[in-house]
Amino acid sequence: MPRFVIQQHDARAMHWDFRLEAGGVLKSWAVPRGPSMDPSDKRLAMEVDDHPIDWGDFEGVIPDAQYGAGAVIIWDRGSYRPLGDQPVEKALEAGHLSFWLEGEKLRGGWTLQRVEGRRWLLVKRRDDEADARRNPVSTQPESVVSGRRIDEVES
Ligand code: MN
Repeated sequence: MPRFVIQQHDARAMHWDFRLEAGGVLKSWAVPRGPSMDPSDKRLAMEVDDHPIDWGDFEGVIPDAQYGAGAVIIWDRGSYRPLGDQPVEKALEAGHLSFWLEGEKLRGGWTLQRVEGRRWLLVKRRDDEADARRNPVSTQPESVVSGRRIDEVES
């Protein structure tokens, strides 16, 4: 099964980098508010450049002089599988991918839907794992690797 990772990143603005392994790279989106468990939330997800697979293991501080300077934690990770028959890369080219996540915090189906250009929406699918009352971005802020919150990585 291919992997996914979500890295919380305190750059110029806080965001959650959502990454899916496909075609030997990490397809990546920056989600300013992070993922939601509520199917009625449509979370903006800005497509960013593909990242190397190894980047998914990074947790620490990107130095000031570099692009994306700021702290990074591995907020969640695990495996995923596409829902539907299309290969992941084809579905992304077509601007619509539904998938099932098996992470440590996130479980269930989500959809990435392209709006225009690099703007996508990340939306929880209506399934048994959907839960409008659960908000793991705020209630489970710790790294799944180190147990640290992002403000603890920066200090
Ligand atoms: Mn980022």
